[in-house]
Amino acid sequence: MIGWMLHNDQENPLYRNFDYLLEILKEHEVTLSLGNGLRAGAVHDATDRGQIQELIINAELADRAQAAGVQTIVEGPGHIPIDEIEANVLVMKRMTSERPFYMLGPLVTDIAPGYDHIVAAVGASLSSAYGADFICYVTPAEHLALPNVEDVKEGVITARIAAHIGDMIKNKDRDSDLAMGRARRDMQWNSQFQLALDPEAARKVRASRSPHDSKVCTMCGDYCAMKIIKENIDLAR
Ligand code: SF4
Repeated sequence: MIGWMLHNDQENPLYRNFDYLLEILKEHEVTLSLGNGLRAGAVHDATDRGQIQELIINAELADRAQAAGVQTIVEGPGHIPIDEIEANVLVMKRMTSERPFYMLGPLVTDIAPGYDHIVAAVGASLSSAYGADFICYVTPAEHLALPNVEDVKEGVITARIAAHIGDMIKNKDRDSDLAMGRARRDMQWNSQFQLALDPEAARKVRASRSPHDSKVCTMCGDYCAMKIIKENIDLAR
């Protein structure tokens, strides 16, 4: 879009004709996600003037959309160091009158290509905990290649983990964690698999290293603390 604007020396046509765009979106009941071309695309640029100026304009567009009867999501930046995430969420929510906020990651460092799904999950966990309403998945192929099916699966599961970590703070959603703690204490492996966000992956790891005693795992084997303490508590009773 910037290339088009520079080439033609004209304003962004979607911005120039925003009211007409809203008419079309309203007619077809489309929710508008207000993206950000000046999003920080590198942690070095996070929370700079360009990003904040665009946020101000997006907040104004969201008001115009609401007046026209079109729902909006407002998108946030993509690369932010950890210590700026909370401020970004706060400013986004305040400036847009608490509209649904879609944080793109954020990636919290730029030097881990191949592991950007993990880098994004760290940022997404925090942004969600601070109040972001929607996060995106990032795959191990981010910044490197078109993701394949395995990359997408890895990215989606990693994003689900991040969303849950955020919900644990934002929505106090901790019941499944408590259940998992109890299942681990009781060495109930099937319950642990059922509670796992990716049961297949958990089953696969355990099956690949089966212990000789099915109660324990191969990490500590005969010295399994769970098993030893349970036996001694049962004896004491
Ligand atoms: S063997 Fe060690 S890691 Fe495995 S369940 Fe027992 S205490 Fe936990």
